[in-house]
Amino acid sequence: MEKLHNKILSEGRALNESVLKVDSFLNHGVDAKLMYEIGTCFREYFNSKGITKIFTIESSGIAPAVMTALQMNLPMVTLKKQTSKILNGEVYQTTVHSFTKGSDYELTLSKKYISENDNVLIIDDFLANGEAALGAIRLVEEAGAKVGGIGIVIEKSFQPGRKMLDDKGYDVYSLARIKKLGKDLIEFL
Ligand code: 5GP
Repeated sequence: MEKLHNKILSEGRALNESVLKVDSFLNHGVDAKLMYEIGTCFREYFNSKGITKIFTIESSGIAPAVMTALQMNLPMVTLKKQTSKILNGEVYQTTVHSFTKGSDYELTLSKKYISENDNVLIIDDFLANGEAALGAIRLVEEAGAKVGGIGIVIEKSFQPGRKMLDDKGYDVYSLARIKKLGKDLIEFL
């Protein structure tokens, strides 16, 4: 997606060889118009795949996910990051290791927002090691539902997440794929 590539090049900042800051339009400030166009791209790719619900992970996945849900006219659900386990039968939970914080959280989904008939599209802002996406997949599959696809705004293709999800047979569609990051360097695939 050319517009996203240009935005990353003009406003993104590589903190080091593995972390990209895009605070001005995706993770802190939000460029709503760009998010709307991101929603259009995801709709074009996933429209024919029988998706019934859009899932995302709080909080930076919400903006692209809500625009995708709007464009596809589907319900959207935000998976919550809880600090501890909830011991009742009303939620699905799984432990995820955070790439940016270096700590674990309990990814949480209320059972009332999923059924075994759902075919879920998971949307997230970044794909790095794939821990967040895998956590979301575990919750969907624990509920007996299907993962119909994974839509990523920025994939860091030099990290293992993409290959791992491909190897497991998931349909991953990323709007920007980064080959290399470094000081003052952002290179796309
Ligand atoms: P993963 O679970 O794939 O290792 O990492 C994905 C999650 O970590 C995303 O939900 C995103 O919030 C965060 N993340 C991973 N890499 C980056 C990065 O380079 N920049 C920012 N801003 N967030 C990242």
